[in-house]
Amino acid sequence: MFKVAVLPGDGIGIEIVPEAIKVLKAIGVKYGHTFEFTEGLIGGAALDAVGVPLPEETLKLCNNSDAILLGAIGGPKWDNIPVHLRPEAGALLPLRKALGLYANLRPAMLYNALIDASTLKREVIEGIDIMVIRELTGGLYFGEKKREKTPTGQAAIDTLLYTTEEIERIARLGFEIAGKRKKVLHSVDKANVLESSRLWRETVTGLAKEYPEVEIIHMYVDNCAMQLVRWPRQFDVIVTENMFGDILTDQASMLTGSIGMLPSASLGGKVGLYEPSHGSAPDIAGQKKANPLATILSAAMMLRYSFNLNNEAKVIEDAVVRVLDLGFRTPDIMEAGGKPVNTEEMGDKVAEQI
Ligand code: NAD
Repeated sequence: MFKVAVLPGDGIGIEIVPEAIKVLKAIGVKYGHTFEFTEGLIGGAALDAVGVPLPEETLKLCNNSDAILLGAIGGPKWDNIPVHLRPEAGALLPLRKALGLYANLRPAMLYNALIDASTLKREVIEGIDIMVIRELTGGLYFGEKKREKTPTGQAAIDTLLYTTEEIERIARLGFEIAGKRKKVLHSVDKANVLESSRLWRETVTGLAKEYPEVEIIHMYVDNCAMQLVRWPRQFDVIVTENMFGDILTDQASMLTGSIGMLPSASLGGKVGLYEPSHGSAPDIAGQKKANPLATILSAAMMLRYSFNLNNEAKVIEDAVVRVLDLGFRTPDIMEAGGKPVNTEEMGDKVAEQI
């Protein structure tokens, strides 16, 4: 039996998470696994219910589970409250930190059926399958922040801090994953400008000696952003720091047609956390328009990385391919001739294929 903490969160989170559960249940029935799902509060939903975005009880639930399935958090309703209470700063970042989830894996894979849903040309994106590994608990998002008064106004300071150990553990994961794939690792930094990036590059270069089978290519982040749209097939595995990874993964998502297709796994601690790469999409929340596939594919990553159920993970991924090949489309990936489905119907289609 696998214990899964379920944190739907806000906005479309409450619409997409049930679809991933539906699919996991279908896997359970087919392969004789039992998943025990326990729901917890997080984000704006938790703030409204109990006054804090990450209740102690939710943290306890996560720690006592085998894996966590998260929807998304945040929304305009909570944008103007004190920063430490806001869903992202007050829940998502502390949750990652508390669980020691320092590695975020975001695969950006193009489904053949969706080639025309991308804004880029077919010949540029055909065949892309990129794994971006983003450092998740260090850097600018976690360093000290402050405001100071100046004679004419204010100054705001964010601190970008990385230690050798933090860089080493994420780079090691990069080399290991690259070693199991095409054996090419792009390490992305801004070593021409940032001291933290110079330490990043030195550390990665030092570690490369332990992985002679992997070719290491260092690239500046601005060049990487350009290369991702110019010639994305040159990339197989990318490892990078927190903020660069945040930005580059959103960019990579568009290669695949929609951010609604992009799953993620956050690893490194005792319990893995699985969530779509997108946010709570307040602009479409409550309209049954959300694409649940990123969350369903995140559930597949859960089976692979937390439960070692590689075959079952592949069954979900193949079911998604078949549903797309059959032409079913939520609005974000709609194209001429596509068969329109809503969030729930998309989940049904994947479960049926399983
Ligand atoms: P977003 O990812 O929520 O939305 C960006 C755009 O993508 C929107 O047009 C949205 O409709 C679309 N989109 C996203 N997911 C989709 C899906 N599954 N299907 C179809 N379309 C989809 O990013 P945003 O608008 O910058 O942020 C909205 C809120 O989400 C903010 O409060 C932000 O802080 C929060 N957020 C949360 C997370 C998280 O929970 N991990 C991540 C990013 C943003």
